[in-house]
Amino acid sequence: MIELDDRLRTARGHARDWGRDLRATALDLDRDPDTVRRCLDNPAVRHLSTMLIPDEWMPDRPLIGGYRFDGMTAMERVVFAEEIAAGDAGMMLAAPGPSLSGVLIDLLADREQKDWFYGRMLAEPTWTFFALTEPDHGSDAGAMQTALEPDGEGGLRLRGAKRYIGNGARASIGIVFARDRPGPLGATAVLVETGSAGFKAEPIPTVGLRGAQLSAILLDDVPVPAGRVLGRHLSPTRRGVWSGVQMFNRLRPGVAAIALGIARAAHEYVASQRGSLSKSERLRWERTGRRIDGVRQLIWRAAAVVDARPADGHLASAAKARAARLAEEVTLEALGYFGPGARLTQPMLDKLVRDARGVEFMEGTGNIQRLNTFQGLVQGKLDRG
Ligand SMILES: Cc1cc2nc3c(=O)[nH]c(=O)nc-3n(C[C@H](O)[C@H](O)[C@H](O)COP(=O)(O)OP(=O)(O)OC[C@H]3O[C@@H](n4cnc5c(N)ncnc54)[C@H](O)[C@@H]3O)c2cc1C
Repeated sequence: MIELDDRLRTARGHARDWGRDLRATALDLDRDPDTVRRCLDNPAVRHLSTMLIPDEWMPDRPLIGGYRFDGMTAMERVVFAEEIAAGDAGMMLAAPGPSLSGVLIDLLADREQKDWFYGRMLAEPTWTFFALTEPDHGSDAGAMQTALEPDGEGGLRLRGAKRYIGNGARASIGIVFARDRPGPLGATAVLVETGSAGFKAEPIPTVGLRGAQLSAILLDDVPVPAGRVLGRHLSPTRRGVWSGVQMFNRLRPGVAAIALGIARAAHEYVASQRGSLSKSERLRWERTGRRIDGVRQLIWRAAAVVDARPADGHLASAAKARAARLAEEVTLEALGYFGPGARLTQPMLDKLVRDARGVEFMEGTGNIQRLNTFQGLVQGKLDRG
């Protein structure tokens, strides 16, 4: 069993308080994703907006309970993510800051690119996006068609379409994955400014995790200076698919922790809003609590593995699949405690059910995670225990 050290227990305690505060705006954000703009002083949002900026670029980072947290390890991220998502998973995804892009910047950017990216993050609250998914190529990212081509004048241009991109329509900087040649080594990530000519993003209607403001992006010959190609100082084998795999491995335990936070929010909602439970209901509620604790342990183990060996994401896949299923089952079970009209009479639970469904698709669906887990098992990289 994994126990948190004093530093991470301190993080958990603070993040739990922040999460409680977020419940007050959760339904507002669900109705109107722009609510985040009036929550920029919320401590959780402030923390998320500088998470994944290394201390070197932020030496005067405020301490939390006497400790410094920059979010550079998966273990740290899962602790914060569970607590903030237990308050509002929508806000977790709506906050400005490096977010998903931060992990790729850490992996691939050179010094000049890091100075530029982190400088923008520190100047003012700045939303970012990370665009991999395409309208017809979600799970099968290898079939991506967005093209990155030379513009004939020493620069490049991007052409294609991306879909379901978190914060796409409110971001000012983002990372786009595109193909610069055929084959598995042909994927490249570039930094893009959303004010560039030919860049168009608009929100798409969604049901769950509405705070994330998923967007459709059109790239119509968007100019990309050669200096904005990430990993330009690395070999092609280390920038395309390799970087994507490493990035998703590092992020996946955090997505699992968001699902865990949603499950916990529903479980706690039953205890706080339902009043007394019958004996059988209490036994069921307690059994669910033990299940939540078990999945938390799995997520912590997966985070520890990814921090030790970033190329090894099989346990993280198992954790994400388990946690997403847990969130769906626990939120639906919670509705059952409030009778047949619960989706109408308990708007917060209704939101949690919708958010849980959204996590199933984020960062790879359950089926894709199960395929990855299975590969880990057959390759002997995953312990059956
Ligand atoms: C809240 C949220 C945030 C997101 N944020 C981002 C983001 O910031 N950037 C980004 O690039 N993308 C983002 N996405 C997109 C996400 O990565 C995709 O939704 C996901 O990869 C699935 O792709 P798809 O929706 O096209 O579904 P599809 O790939 O079409 O899958 C549909 C169904 O088919 C199943 N399926 C597909 N392939 C297989 C297979 N080989 N074997 C078995 N079953 C299979 C899937 O499990 C699923 O049930 C986000 C999605 C959500 C919901």
